[in-house]
Amino acid sequence: MKATLRKITIKEICEGFVYNEYEGKGLYGLNGRLTIQPEYQRNYIYADGKRDVAVIDSVIKGYPIGLIYFNKVGEDKYEVLDGQQRITSLGRFMTNKLDIIDSKGDPQNVSSIGADIRKKIEETELLVYICEGTETEIKEWFATINIAGIPLNEQEMLNATYYGPFVTQAKAVFSNSNNPLLQKWSAYISGNVKRQDFLHTALSWVGKGDVSRYMSQHRKDEDINELKTYFDSVIDWVSATFKDVYSEMRGIEWGRLYETYHTRAYNVETLARRVEELMADDCVTDKKGIFEFLLGGESETKLLNIRLFEKATIKSVYTKQTIEAKQEGYSNCPYCREENKANATRIWKENEMDADHVSAWSRGGATDIDNCQMLCKTHNRMKGNR
Ligand SMILES: [Zn+2]
Repeated sequence: MKATLRKITIKEICEGFVYNEYEGKGLYGLNGRLTIQPEYQRNYIYADGKRDVAVIDSVIKGYPIGLIYFNKVGEDKYEVLDGQQRITSLGRFMTNKLDIIDSKGDPQNVSSIGADIRKKIEETELLVYICEGTETEIKEWFATINIAGIPLNEQEMLNATYYGPFVTQAKAVFSNSNNPLLQKWSAYISGNVKRQDFLHTALSWVGKGDVSRYMSQHRKDEDINELKTYFDSVIDWVSATFKDVYSEMRGIEWGRLYETYHTRAYNVETLARRVEELMADDCVTDKKGIFEFLLGGESETKLLNIRLFEKATIKSVYTKQTIEAKQEGYSNCPYCREENKANATRIWKENEMDADHVSAWSRGGATDIDNCQMLCKTHNRMKGNR
């Protein structure tokens, strides 16, 4: 790959700047010779009134805004490889689509800022590396650069690495903030659609957790049918199985649960009632675990991270059990006593015992003092969840 350093003024770069307000994208500059957002670039995410304004402030103060990289795609034709966010901020300011705040706290735009400051901005030279090379060389390089400010996240990096018709179509569905289905999907998926979190989830579901492998296998696909069908199947299955929507459903590994459980039949009414009961149960401290717990037939209690007995409860039960045991001359672990073996008269220390639900939590036993007994650690483990 060959790279040549050039200085280009902000005025030149912003000439013929086109901004797509609807998609939030800077499209062209350099009088049409520069494509600002090629398909492998992420969406414009500086438009938050801070990072975009900071770019303009830096230029006014004479601070460098960093290297910019163009890919030469034809005779005097370029694409932005790195610098799209900064160029879009500059372009928006120069075309009166971005206000900044001056030192007195007043909003200023390019028309009100004063001729001398405007001239300074226009004449500021940006350092641009013009890269020439094969597509593979440039993509490999692009995947390894670390952009100052906001580093690309994993999915943005993968989109850049595997860009092509598959990624373009997948982004049009899963990275599109105007997709009317987003609201429904948001009940089950967490994250930011612009930062590719929904696309990442969809790919991770269909790719059984290996997004990179799936993207490399499908990068040349002309359609995204499998991705879309699989995603819809998971969403349809979740929404049909659990008829009520809870905020705890967001971000659960639904793809994995679908793979494991979608062939089993469930009574939807019973499930809905159990979800409601467990959501209201104070002992269930991991509410997100409720769904997998129910799908698996209520056996994996550890998914719910059941609240333990209070320290005071444990102390008081231990004391009562131990005094009684000493008086009667048998072990303070009722199971040791019953077994009538070597430990039948052993008095365990408090830290050698664990608090146990007499009537198991999973069978409706409460987490209160009346349902608490102390068992030696061995017997507590043996009793398990029975
Ligand atoms: Zn015991």
